[in-house]
Amino acid sequence: MAPMASRPPGLDSRLENTCVYCGCGYGTRDHVPPRILLDEPYPEANLPVVKACHSCNNRISRDEEYLACLIECIICGTTDPAKVSRTKIAQTLERNARLRREIESGRQENDDGSLMWRFEAERVRNVVLKLARGHVAYELSTERLDEPDYVLALPLITMTEEQREAFETVTNETFIGWPEIGSRAFHRIFATSDNQLIHQDWITVQPGRYRYSVHWTGSVVHIVISDYLACIVSWA
Ligand SMILES: [Zn+2]
Repeated sequence: MAPMASRPPGLDSRLENTCVYCGCGYGTRDHVPPRILLDEPYPEANLPVVKACHSCNNRISRDEEYLACLIECIICGTTDPAKVSRTKIAQTLERNARLRREIESGRQENDDGSLMWRFEAERVRNVVLKLARGHVAYELSTERLDEPDYVLALPLITMTEEQREAFETVTNETFIGWPEIGSRAFHRIFATSDNQLIHQDWITVQPGRYRYSVHWTGSVVHIVISDYLACIVSWA
């Protein structure tokens, strides 16, 4: 078990009894990101943990497995467990033949030998939205149960230079307000070494595997999975 994330002193406790995904009474805890998106050994620093009910936790976990395997298969160009890089994904594909077939059925070789991967967009959306809600809850102690305006997931390499620039610097804007006192975002401000009022933009959970950024208003979340998939969830 990875250590539980502890509350910084002064962080408020509004969400302590609520599932951050559906708002009901909680029954369990949920890692954001889930461990299937990370490699062992897990980061020594506390991994973000939020409250979640069993239903929300279980409902999306198969989709999380699907997305983690899909990304690794795309990166490695194969669904063959012997040929993917991440041990955990190799084991999952080995164990779950059905999942492997599902991903393989979307693999398509073009005339020029390049690969195309069709995927189940709804499942990807489920995972990305859940991740974003978890990050907002963890960073800002705020529920984001409403439907977002959009959920985007696209490979980093398909972005133009301008898109990439905007994506990478989203929260690095002029500081025009303060996050709510007591929120993690508030604490992160004062964690900067030179005490400048700059909101930390990207939080790296595991280098090369997972990083995220939550705008202090809680209206935009950016995520990068495996240095491959860029995700944007916006409630703006
Ligand atoms: Zn729930």
